Formats: sequence, C-alpha cells, structure tokens
Amino acid sequence: MMDSPLSKLPPEVLPRFWSKITVTPHCWDWQAKSRIGDYGVFTVRAGVQRLAHRLSYEIHYGEAPPGRMVVRHRCDNPLCVNPDHLELGTHADNMRDKVRRGRQSRGEASPAAKLTEAQVREIRSAPHGTGRALARRLGISNTQFSKIKNGHAWQHVA
Ligand SMILES: [Zn+2]
Repeated sequence: MMDSPLSKLPPEVLPRFWSKITVTPHCWDWQAKSRIGDYGVFTVRAGVQRLAHRLSYEIHYGEAPPGRMVVRHRCDNPLCVNPDHLELGTHADNMRDKVRRGRQSRGEASPAAKLTEAQVREIRSAPHGTGRALARRLGISNTQFSKIKNGHAWQHVA
C-alpha cells in the first residue's frame, strides 16, 4: 500500500498535494493532519497512501530507488517536504537520524515542552516577519511557533 511507483501517480492529484504544503525559503512543513509516525502522509486515492516527503523527492528528482534506500531529511524535520532538504540514504542513516532527534528531545512530552515561559512570551511579542528565524533559533517548527503565537498552545502563559 505504501510507496507504489510514482509512475502510477495521477497528475491530477498534484494540485491537491501542493495545497497541503506551505512553500517557504526554509522548511516546507506538511500541513495536513494525516501522519504516519512523524511523517506526513498523502492519500493518492482511497487505500493508496504515500509518505509526503518521499513523494516530494520523487516529483523533483525522479523515482527513489526501491528497496534499501530511503528519503532522508537533512533538516531533521520529518514534516518537511522541501526537496532541497531531502536526500537519499539508507535505513541505517535514517535510524541514526532518529536517535539524534530523540537525544535532542529526551524527557520531553511534546516538542513545545522544551521552551521556557520566557521564550513563549518572546514568541508572542515577536515582530511580524521575524517568526521563522526565531522558531529556528528556539528549535521548534513553524507550525508550533504559529500555535504559540496564536495562543493555541501554551495558553497558560499570558
Ligand atoms: Zn526542511
């Protein structure tokens, strides 16, 4: 069911694929709710799902070799589908990435938990246009940043 060849991807689904992505100069976070583990998932049609980042890689660079090769994130952001941040690797590379990410967020229940209340206030008061740089510096996703900025996360911090 996963990873059917790109040649079977009907071109008419591409606008729907792109509608789920916010293109930025940095990470292109997958915006849709559908996920497998940490990764975004695109439903090509009923019963056919593809990993969003792998699909993006194949749209830009052609079909990823089947078998042992995986599409990895150079940016360590599993939701990112920016082709500039994607590269081919092995499952072993991918496991090392996961271990590294796990070390970075060890002991924390959610990605936002590593922020302090002072940092949350900094996010809330950040001038327009500085959000992405600040999110990068704090090590959170643009999505998480927006949730905090809009008051959908960390509601207990005024
Ligand atoms: Zn990225």
